[in-house]
Amino acid sequence: MEPIKIEIMKIVVSNDHTKKYYFKTESQTASHIEACLLHLSRYGHIICVSSQIGCPQKCKFCAAGNSTYIRNLSSFEIQEQIRLVVEDNPTLATDKFQVTYMGSGEPLINYKNVFDSLDNIRIRFPNLEKANLSTTCPSAARQCFDTIDWKKYDGFLHFQYSLHFTQDVMRCRYLSPQLMKISEAIGYLNRISLLLNDTYKINYIPFEQINDSLEQVEELKSIMDTTQNAILKISTMCEINGCHLSPSRAFGQFASCAGKTIENVQVFSSDGTDISAGCGQFYNESVL
Ligand code: SF4
Repeated sequence: MEPIKIEIMKIVVSNDHTKKYYFKTESQTASHIEACLLHLSRYGHIICVSSQIGCPQKCKFCAAGNSTYIRNLSSFEIQEQIRLVVEDNPTLATDKFQVTYMGSGEPLINYKNVFDSLDNIRIRFPNLEKANLSTTCPSAARQCFDTIDWKKYDGFLHFQYSLHFTQDVMRCRYLSPQLMKISEAIGYLNRISLLLNDTYKINYIPFEQINDSLEQVEELKSIMDTTQNAILKISTMCEINGCHLSPSRAFGQFASCAGKTIENVQVFSSDGTDISAGCGQFYNESVL
């Protein structure tokens, strides 16, 4: 079967120089694909790609999770997002860059295409230094975790675990009911990070009066005590239309307390939020 081609439909540029890409697809399902190019002081150039159109997970803070899920992207469609962004930015012909699977979609629900794309982009783009994969650890990821030859990605692949809540029942309510228990996910990520010879990140977004109390810092500490090689990344929530969650007003206090209580904490805020290129802002049906 011929691969479905994609082409650039629209590019929007942020005040901070982040570029958001909208791609047209020839697919029968009328829709589009989104990616962005960020320039972060700590990490350099990063191309953030989508792995699905919309997302079958329903994370309440995320635009894709609040929109209609359409389908998995093929390996070719994922690779083409990167090719088109690289061709549009001549500096990426010489500068090193990273790719991150953090756009629309839960990459481990579409893991066969995601890992096929990873194998191909390593060969196709010599300036690609590293790939980052962000996951909520859905139950469907067990097959991926058990079958991938992780040694093959040693020094190349970096994991981020979207935790966001310290209790399984809260993750079930605000992210998805189809998730591994936190303890199981951390067991897997501890083992995989050793095989990858890498740290992994645990992502946490404090939401107003839901998971931003100082008790939650203590619970986070208990979870972090069960990890090996993990860094806690605390991020501000990017606002989206129609979302019932809001950014914590106690963010500063929460992050400061976490920094004093837990080892290895990083505080992060998204770039590109004015053009819907921030974390959780991809594939916003209300502004399509
Ligand atoms: S946060 Fe990730 S997994 Fe959750 S709905 Fe959004 S894209 Fe899907």
